[in-house]
Amino acid sequence: MTEDLAAAIRAGDRRALARAVTLVESTRADHRQQAETLVETLLPRTGKATRLGISGPPGAGKSTFIERFGLDGLARGRTVAVLAVDPASKRGGGAILGDKTRMIELSRASGAFIRPSPGGETMGGVARRTRETILLCEAAGFDTVIVETIGAGQSETTVAEMVDMFLLILPPAAGDELQGLKRGIIELADLVLINKADSELLDHANRAAADYANALRLIRPLVAGWEPPVRAVSALTGAGVDAVWDDVARFRALLEASGAWSRQRAEQARAALLAEIGEGLLALFRAASIVAARFPDIEREVMAGARTPADGARELLTAFLTRTGGC
Ligand code: GDP
Repeated sequence: MTEDLAAAIRAGDRRALARAVTLVESTRADHRQQAETLVETLLPRTGKATRLGISGPPGAGKSTFIERFGLDGLARGRTVAVLAVDPASKRGGGAILGDKTRMIELSRASGAFIRPSPGGETMGGVARRTRETILLCEAAGFDTVIVETIGAGQSETTVAEMVDMFLLILPPAAGDELQGLKRGIIELADLVLINKADSELLDHANRAAADYANALRLIRPLVAGWEPPVRAVSALTGAGVDAVWDDVARFRALLEASGAWSRQRAEQARAALLAEIGEGLLALFRAASIVAARFPDIEREVMAGARTPADGARELLTAFLTRTGGC
């Protein structure tokens, strides 16, 4: 069954890809097993796409931008997959209702694949699902995979750690007026886009772009030889949007020439390995009956200040390891 699905994905079958993503999103143990086998099978076909992260405060115009940018990309002969990350979502299972109306034109295009976020997951779960979905999209032949953050919060950093290039989309306002944008996120950006540079917002956008460009000059570049450009664009009219494809190509060429492209990928894989180990251990730990039996008392003592967290953790870990034969 996994072989058939893998073959269909390799052939670029969108329905098969959608089924595979559903498998990757499932938390059922048998699905998890199948998903892992599938991703493992497809691994030799992965890694070729440019992985782009797109973040920014709600209302900045991310989905409007991605629709325009995606359509421009298709016109350039690219194939584009769009994934969403939304760990903050409290919405129960299933796709975000609003997402069905986002990126309508792009979702109908034959060269594009759009997958809304299932929502309501832990950050660790979101990270794994997204990493695996990126690989599935690559195996299906997409040359550009866009990961968009929908919820604000820690998701920006998580996304920045799983993509090759991180784009920040901001509304035409000065930095200190921005709501919902964590300090430090700007430092992760390889490209900053001030959106809504149209009609009466044009001057604001240009001024904001100049401000951000000045601020960014004070920060040491993340990537040697790359000063993150700041551009005023309009996702609505499309002004400046197509040129972002040239920035992406320039960035990739620079990193490939220095070897930083594959180095960054390798570092990300190492970090993902450690994260998987950490989450796996924590899940085993939580599931152990000896831990479940003692945890509430120790938690209470630690919370009441009667015991240090280190001492409580040591007792639980010793009990866990003794029981599982780990020491
Ligand atoms: P998101 O929450 O970041 O995904 O933002 P949306 O793409 O949903 O856009 C939020 C609002 O801003 C919508 O009403 C858009 O029509 C509007 N918007 C998006 N891009 C532009 C733009 O370039 N110019 C103007 N004037 N409005 C825009």
